[in-house]
Amino acid sequence: DAAVVVPATVAATGAGAVYANDDVTPYARRRDDAVRAALGAVPWRSWWGGLVHAPGAVLTGKGTLSQVFTPFHKTWAATEWGRWPTETDGAVLAAVADDGGDEAPRPDAAPPYEPGEDAALGRLQRWAEQVDDYLATRDLPGIDGTSVLSGDLRFGTLSPRTVATILGTASPGRAGFVRQLAWRDWYAHLTHERPDLPTAPVRPAYAGIGWRNDPDEIAAWKAGRTGYPIVDAGMRQLAATGWMHNRVRMIVASFLVKDLLVDWRIGERWFRHLLVDGDVAQNAGNWQWVAGTGLDAAPYFRVFNPTSQGRKFDPTGAYVRRWVPELAGLADRDVHEPWLAGPLALAAAGYPEPMVDHPAARDRCLAAYQAATGATGGGAERGHDTPE
Ligand code: FAD
Repeated sequence: DAAVVVPATVAATGAGAVYANDDVTPYARRRDDAVRAALGAVPWRSWWGGLVHAPGAVLTGKGTLSQVFTPFHKTWAATEWGRWPTETDGAVLAAVADDGGDEAPRPDAAPPYEPGEDAALGRLQRWAEQVDDYLATRDLPGIDGTSVLSGDLRFGTLSPRTVATILGTASPGRAGFVRQLAWRDWYAHLTHERPDLPTAPVRPAYAGIGWRNDPDEIAAWKAGRTGYPIVDAGMRQLAATGWMHNRVRMIVASFLVKDLLVDWRIGERWFRHLLVDGDVAQNAGNWQWVAGTGLDAAPYFRVFNPTSQGRKFDPTGAYVRRWVPELAGLADRDVHEPWLAGPLALAAAGYPEPMVDHPAARDRCLAAYQAATGATGGGAERGHDTPE
C-alpha cells in the first residue's frame, strides 16, 4: 500500500520531500491522493514526466480537449513544452542508503528486454538509425520495423520528451514516429478528462451491444488456437514476449470483438495482464478505437479480414512461421489460409480449422451493432485517423 510504504520510507530516510510522476488513471489518482494525505506536512512535488504535454496543456481555441485526433495533434505539435524540473526544484536524486531491501522477485526466464535506463537509451540509439524508414516498415510484423520502446515509455525508463528530442521531426519517418507520441498523450488526456474511459464505451449508444462472450471461444483466442494464422501468431507472440506488433494488435482485437462478439473489456484485461507496455489509458483507448465505441474510432462496420490482413502485411508469412511453427512448412500461398492445404495436412500439422467463418461472423457483428444503435447500414466510411 503506497500510502503506508511511502511515508514509512520518508520517515526511515529523513527525506525532505517526495517527488513523483503524475498519472491519469482513476486508480493512480486515488493512490496519489492517499499518499499525499498520509504524508501530512512533507511536501509532495509531482510532474507529468510520462507525457510530452500535461493534461490540460493542449486545448482547442474554445479551451476544450479536442475529441478528434488530427486537430489535437496539430495543436500538440505547436504547443510549447512546459518546463522540466531542475535542480532548483530540489529534484536531484540524493542517494538513498541501500538498506539491502527485499530481493525483487526473479522471473524464471530471462526478461525479453534488458531492463533499466541504460538499456533503454541503447534501444533508442539503435532505433535512431532506423527511424527514417518508419513509414515503410511500421506495418510489417515480420521485420523489426518499429521501436519497441513502448515498455520503456510505460515505465519511465525513457521519457517521451527525451525520445522526441533525440529523434526530432526532420524526415517523414521521424515526424510520423513522433506523431505516435501524440496519440499516446491524447489517450492519456482523454482518460484524465473521462475517468470512465477504461470501463465504459465513450459512445453510450454502444452500451447495449449483445456480446456473446463464449468462454471456450475466448480461451481459444487467448491460447492462439483460432485457426486464423495471423491472429494466432499475435496471441502467441504476446504470451511469449509480453509485446505484440501494433498492426497485429488491431487484427486480434478486431477478431475478438467483431468476429467473436466478445466485449472489448475482456480483451483489454487480457492484454493488460500480459503486455510489458500494458497501460490502462493506452490499452482501453486503443481497444475502444478497434471496437468503434471510442472517440475518432474505427467505424463499427470496419471489420478486419484476418486473411487479407495477413496476406497484405505479412506477405512472405515470416511472422506466422515464427510464432505458429506448425505452419512453417506450408507454401507461401497457403500460410494465411492453411485450410487450403486440405484437412489432412491441417490435422497432420496439429493446427485447428478456422473457429468461425469470417464473412458470416462479420454479418453477425454488423447485425449486433446495428441492433444496439438502431443504425441501418454501413454507409460511406467517414474520414477518420488511424492510430497505427
Ligand atoms: P512504435 O510504432 O515504435 O511507436 C512509438 C511509440 O508511440 C510507442 O512506443 C507508443 O508509446 C506510441 N504509440 C504507437 N502507437 C500508439 C497507439 N496506437 N496508441 C498510443 N500510443 C501509441 N500501447 C501501449 O503503450 N500500451 C498499451 O497497453 C497498448 N494497448 C494497445 C491495445 C490495442 C488493441 C492496440 C491496437 C494498440 C495498443 N497500444 C498500446 C498501442 C501500440 O500498439 C503500441 O504502443 C505499439 O505497438 C508499441 O510498439 P512500439 O514501441 O514498437 O511502437
